[in-house]
Amino acid sequence: MKKIYVLIALIYSLIVVLSATTQAQIRCKTPKLMQELINTSPELQEKVAASEQKIEDWTQTHKAAKMATVLTIPVVVHVLYRNGAQNISDAQIQLQLDILNSDYRKRNYDTTGIPAAFKSLSVDCEIDFCLAKRDPLGNPTNGITRKAITIKEIGNTNKYFKSNLGGQDIWNRDHYLNFWVCEIDSMGGILGYSTVPSFNPTASSDGVVIDYRYFGTSSNSHYNKGRTATHEVGHWFDLQHIWGDDFGSCSNDDFVSDTPLQGAEHYGMPAFPSIDSCSPAFPGTLFMNYMDYTDDSGMHMFTLGQKTRMWAALSTTLRDSLFASKGCVPVGIDESIASTELSIHPNPSSGIFNFKLQLKKSEAVSIQIFDLTGHLILQKSYLPQSNFNEFIDLTEFANGCYFAKIDVNTATFNKKIVKN
Ligand SMILES: [Zn+2]
Repeated sequence: MKKIYVLIALIYSLIVVLSATTQAQIRCKTPKLMQELINTSPELQEKVAASEQKIEDWTQTHKAAKMATVLTIPVVVHVLYRNGAQNISDAQIQLQLDILNSDYRKRNYDTTGIPAAFKSLSVDCEIDFCLAKRDPLGNPTNGITRKAITIKEIGNTNKYFKSNLGGQDIWNRDHYLNFWVCEIDSMGGILGYSTVPSFNPTASSDGVVIDYRYFGTSSNSHYNKGRTATHEVGHWFDLQHIWGDDFGSCSNDDFVSDTPLQGAEHYGMPAFPSIDSCSPAFPGTLFMNYMDYTDDSGMHMFTLGQKTRMWAALSTTLRDSLFASKGCVPVGIDESIASTELSIHPNPSSGIFNFKLQLKKSEAVSIQIFDLTGHLILQKSYLPQSNFNEFIDLTEFANGCYFAKIDVNTATFNKKIVKN
């Protein structure tokens, strides 16, 4: 704990305004905002350190290559526009979702750009994204809100997340990933930024802000393939920059064990190998990682360590509530069988979980329990019934997170359960 605390203090004391002095554009404003939070609330450092310890503890026990399920994150995109160009189309938004899904599922067309020496590090993160199908009130939605505004550079103010000040209120961050797409800097000089769960973001502003010019694909020369969102969503899952924001020092890292140490960020399209004083031997630094600053065309991968850290943050921080979100479940005729009808109590539990399921008609039920490595640890089948009420006993298994898969003829439910 102490080591982590010192590291965090060092990292954030070393951060200065990003390389704005050498680059016309600021790829990511996230570290600057984290530094400002630390400056205004020094006691936050202890909270960040405690969160880091939880992530590290989880990581030590869950070095899983394969999770038991794919987690789908419901997304809402708030478009704030002053003119037609800023009012990006539904198609452009869908394109960005497609890019996120490709990158986080390792389905991107350009994994061929990963050097052979790093190919084995690249993984499917088993996280994907949907445009929300129901809003916070349970009404059907396309996952997009639009608002004509008058405020210039609203993304560089604290108004973008406040409807009463001209912006757009957040949808409950417990159930949605909120994007605000707007003008951040009139010259397009700031691409985007995100909140970070370890930094205890406020419930009203917890999300990702992307300048409208960089959301989806575009004709920009460097940042044109939607990787600004891929990068910022990494921060939203608590990933740090791959070089540790330590300005050339090799003492700090990104708290991910399989990403090589790296002195500083890369811009443009670096040639492989890129050797520096922190990784002086072949194959050098992992500059083609989504958490570096290379051009969009030069970013190709997350590592297993980064995936594990994201799942650790999903499991140990306030992002935990996303497992139960219904944001991707359409409001429809089969709603009577939706997951509201399934309850698991208590959860967390010391070992005994009560599963209750209300069904429209009598149906056979099967329950499978998986650990986080995807291994089936328990399986039960039950005779047809409409008021299902059974107990699952996990007392003989280790404490931690498990996934319950409940199958009936007409539906499948996936639920995270926690034994502690
Ligand atoms: Zn960043």
